[in-house]
Amino acid sequence: MRSSEVIDFLKRRFPNEPEYHQAVEEVVESIEDVYNEHPEFEKANLIERLVIPDKIHSFRVTWVDDKGNVQTNMGYRVQHNNAIGPYKGGIRFHASVSPSILKFLAFEQTFKNALTTLPMGGAKGGSDFSPRGKSDGEVMRFCQAFVEGLWRVIGPNTDVPAGDIGVGGREIGYMFGKYKKLAEEFTGTFTGKGREFGGSLIRPEATGYGNVYFLLEMLKTKNIDIKGKKCLVSGSGNVAQYTCEKLLELGAIPVTLSDSDGYIYDPDGITEEKLRFVMELKNLYRGRIREYAEEYGCKYVPGARPWGEKADIALPSATQNEVDQADAEALVKNGVIAVSEGANMPSTPEAIAVFQSNKILYAPGKAANAGGVSVSGLEMTQNSERYSWPAEQVDEKLKWIMANIHENCVKYGTESDGYINYVKGANIAGFMKVAKAIMSQGIL
Ligand code: NDP
Repeated sequence: MRSSEVIDFLKRRFPNEPEYHQAVEEVVESIEDVYNEHPEFEKANLIERLVIPDKIHSFRVTWVDDKGNVQTNMGYRVQHNNAIGPYKGGIRFHASVSPSILKFLAFEQTFKNALTTLPMGGAKGGSDFSPRGKSDGEVMRFCQAFVEGLWRVIGPNTDVPAGDIGVGGREIGYMFGKYKKLAEEFTGTFTGKGREFGGSLIRPEATGYGNVYFLLEMLKTKNIDIKGKKCLVSGSGNVAQYTCEKLLELGAIPVTLSDSDGYIYDPDGITEEKLRFVMELKNLYRGRIREYAEEYGCKYVPGARPWGEKADIALPSATQNEVDQADAEALVKNGVIAVSEGANMPSTPEAIAVFQSNKILYAPGKAANAGGVSVSGLEMTQNSERYSWPAEQVDEKLKWIMANIHENCVKYGTESDGYINYVKGANIAGFMKVAKAIMSQGIL
């Protein structure tokens, strides 16, 4: 297998899907040598069977807005691979959602889920519906209409969706309710549910906390203490909020947050009290991050990202391709020691090359943000047991899983000069598990 040929083939067969090509290219390049040590993989054409999703469902979603107008959106579910467990992955509601973005996310999810040690396959779904500016009633009606298109292809042993950008506890509640009604059963078909109806403790916190646990493991390899370190965090949604919460608990100092309109820089640090303000602003009033700067009198930069600010650590937690080469160069120039990705594929390939050539501690989202889906997996277990575990128990398991993922990255990614290539480590560890499972199950 030659990675360049695989990418050329994908570009010919599935043109105009740049995010999908980008995600596949990163994985295929780093597994090329390991793959070629196994002639049986090539014989079984494993690579094409791995990069092309098992199934892609698409459907029209029709709903009525508050003015009585009938609106349409597209809905999708990309079921990428179920070799090691039922399909599992989030639902994204954002104007930018396209088959290319969902195919990249589902592909990444397959390897991420393999890393978690839990039995979950990979999937991703969503819609080009934008929740921005919509009333609660509109969001509910949209979620219900979306589930009408989706419900027949998901189920507790088939495919278990969760949240992602634009889909939090509120949206999961509406989708779960509609699913329960249509399927006429109460099962754990969605994760990230409310605590009252089967949601796991620590699920809302899991992606952000998990990212910080992974960061701690990376810092440990260099004997660096997180206490007092200034951190750039992007986004201001679920992942960004709980990243800040854990950083604060450990004595680090988050100084930035952002949304799609701009970023705030608070040189005094985002304190616990200020974080509560952000949580209320974003989760309750659905306001803009600009209002933080108005409340606390700090800098707000519209239309920009926070990577030019001086700090020790960066935790991109908003969206894909939000750190480009120039951003990465600015981070390195300002002395950043570690970059740990809460978002999926936030760094472009050029940015990753800058981090790696400067030997910075760099963790790709596939490894660093796997805490979210891990606790989703633990929610599935609790739902199957019809039981719920205390927060401490879930948090302990989350810590263990993140340490385990780190250990696997070190095992497969340590280079001859001792530098840990976390991209390579995560890709090889995830790939080998999925590859072995596919090979064992015959030609399908
Ligand atoms: P939320 O919807 O809660 O928050 C997303 C944040 O990112 C918002 O502040 C949003 O701003 C900002 N954002 C979204 N799109 C863009 C854009 N195109 N440009 C600039 N800013 C943008 O989502 P999450 O926090 O759940 O997800 C954030 C990232 O983490 C995503 O990449 C997601 O795939 C990833 N992730 C999430 C997991 C989870 O458990 N939730 C698990 C693993 C990964 P605005 O409000 O203006 O749109």
